[in-house]
Amino acid sequence: MSSPLEVLKKKFGYDEFRFQQNEIIDTVLAQEDTFVLMPTGGGKSLCYQIPALLFEGLTVVISPLIALMKDQVDALRVNGIRAGYLNSTLSPGQQSQVMRLVRNKEIKLLYMAPERLFARDSEFMEVLKSSGISLIAIDEAHCISQWGHDFRPEYLKLGALKDKFPDTPVIALTATADKLTRKDILEKLNLKKPKTFVSSFNRENIHYYIEPKKDSYARLLEFLEKHNDESGIIYSLSRKSTEALATKLVHDGFSAKPYNAGLDRETRARHQELFIKDKVKIIVATIAFGMGIDKSNVRYVVHMNLPKNIESYYQETGRAGRDGLQSDALLFYSKRDLAMLKDFARVDDNEEQSKIMLDKLSQMGYLCESKTCRRKFILNYFDEEHGGNCATCDVCLSDYEEIDGTVIAQKALSAIARLKENYGMNHVIDFLKGSKTKKIPDWQREIKTYGVGSDHSREEWSSFFNDLKMKGYLDQNESNYNTLSLTGKSWNILKGKEKIRFLRAVSRRETGNGISYEKVLFDRLREVRSKVAERENTAAFIIFSDATLVELASRLPKSIEELGFIKGFGEAKIERYGQEFLGEVVDYCREFGLESQFKQKQYKQRAKKSAGGRSQTKIESLKLFKEGNSTPEIAGLRGLGVNTIEEHLSWFVGEGELSVEDLVPPQKITPIQDAIKEHGWAALRPLKDALGEDYTYGEIKAVVEVVKSEG
Ligand code: ADP
Ligand code: ZN
Repeated sequence: MSSPLEVLKKKFGYDEFRFQQNEIIDTVLAQEDTFVLMPTGGGKSLCYQIPALLFEGLTVVISPLIALMKDQVDALRVNGIRAGYLNSTLSPGQQSQVMRLVRNKEIKLLYMAPERLFARDSEFMEVLKSSGISLIAIDEAHCISQWGHDFRPEYLKLGALKDKFPDTPVIALTATADKLTRKDILEKLNLKKPKTFVSSFNRENIHYYIEPKKDSYARLLEFLEKHNDESGIIYSLSRKSTEALATKLVHDGFSAKPYNAGLDRETRARHQELFIKDKVKIIVATIAFGMGIDKSNVRYVVHMNLPKNIESYYQETGRAGRDGLQSDALLFYSKRDLAMLKDFARVDDNEEQSKIMLDKLSQMGYLCESKTCRRKFILNYFDEEHGGNCATCDVCLSDYEEIDGTVIAQKALSAIARLKENYGMNHVIDFLKGSKTKKIPDWQREIKTYGVGSDHSREEWSSFFNDLKMKGYLDQNESNYNTLSLTGKSWNILKGKEKIRFLRAVSRRETGNGISYEKVLFDRLREVRSKVAERENTAAFIIFSDATLVELASRLPKSIEELGFIKGFGEAKIERYGQEFLGEVVDYCREFGLESQFKQKQYKQRAKKSAGGRSQTKIESLKLFKEGNSTPEIAGLRGLGVNTIEEHLSWFVGEGELSVEDLVPPQKITPIQDAIKEHGWAALRPLKDALGEDYTYGEIKAVVEVVKSEG
């Protein structure tokens, strides 16, 4: 039997466990009940998928997110894992098909909605009982609790699972649960002395930016330009505003679609599908969007309006960066939004509830207004310690620089003098900035100082004024409309006898994700991925995450062997897609004269993951071939792709155990040999391109093996 780590490497192509995955998996394998609280993107799925592969029987996964099931099952299938799902989107025929798979023990994992499990006919329950379930996983476990934010009555029935399957271990998982909800989940599920694992809620790869809402559309455009061609979600408050904003963005050349409850089902589903398949980059949505999607390469989330509490903010921003790559969360904050939400927060005839909601809202306001590290603030809100200084939020990224403020102060003070010490700060700033507002009468526009301060922003001016006030160069007369007036000290500055220094905020917004990679290659790999996804009729990120493509584009593997060390390339994916992606990398490196970034010793020490040599799987294919089966028949028998079988067989041609004529029709051999003369045999892609559709990779590979072995 393999170890969990071996399964992680072979099946999922990852090198090490994250967070507490390892301990969690061990607990489940020891058949104990387990409760897992881990943030979105933390890697909850592997906590039951790996045990599922190691256990004898079936693992049943309960999830309320029907829309996700197909994706989850597809993701397992492309990793060569047999899985199925049962929900109301399947026809009765398809459902009996799945039941048959369960009965014949042909799948390891079965995803299903809770209501299916307890459907009127007990037949299904009987099938499950008699076929032996090794593990029950309950995803989104907070749905069982009224205290949670997403209670689903049908989840309550899951309490009965322990009666029906007393000896089957249960693992319950969720990304959101406060202490109260947590306790409730364990009770309602009747778990037996569950081991609880709580991971940190810190999403390090999400960078937080909160800005005052000012010229927010222009700021948004600036932000989107930096995220050119990446996927993102923009949350806006109303149905109308989502549609207006999407239209405006399209007009400005972006690929955007709206999503809100007012659109009809079909349109909504279509927009979501386009987004998931990377055909539309931006979804402008009300908060309704996101529950049912599991897109891992969302690179940013923007809030045009204030969320109503930190829980929502955390959850919505958390939809970015599930693949672990750097992602940005941008929020535009205004006091007006805060005031407006206060009206909504009141729950009629329920003082207590209203108070809780208002409290949560004001916490959200504090988060925006405070000068504390955003990450620290959020984590503390969830009762988690954090030292601050995260270097990845707008607060931590703002620096203060000291500047010589003498000239600035002279401008400010002389403006006050010229305006006869008769005006408040806002007016003086308008005056300094040369504002066209009617509030400034004509005589003031004639003054020389009018407009001399246009090189500083309004915020900067108000911070300079506050500084001057604090340092005693300025008086503010509170009993007289807050008018500003000079002090004795002011004249020292005006006469140039004294100098003054100011602190000015400078923001370092850009951080970059630290990985340098070939951007052009990355784009090309994305295209390959789209093509593959199209062919497999699934979403691109299910084939490979962006993280995998970034790693390809930075490490530049030159062989199947090196490809095996890229995260996300497990055995099945190497076999199925290895050549295609490798070909693209090799072509690119040749075009630009780049070398593989793998160091020889790096992979000598590590276990061989790819099937570079004689392996059991190849021998199996050879055996079936010698028994007289055709390549497609072997593929069918073994549940592998035709390409893979051809790869296996052609390897034996190189070893002299099969002859090339066994695999390639005689009339094709010469053209392939000619193509090899022209293009070489380092990569198969150029050969395939030259030869065209009629030639398979397997045929080309077989001839290449002969040429290679002949030296
Ligand atoms: P969750 O369900 O907790 O939101 P997922 O199970 O969907 O998270 O995992 C998020 C992403 O992280 C997936 O792309 C998954 O393949 C990846 N992942 C999970 N565990 C690991 C690991 N140990 N190493 C690398 N990537 C991992
Ligand atoms: Zn910070």
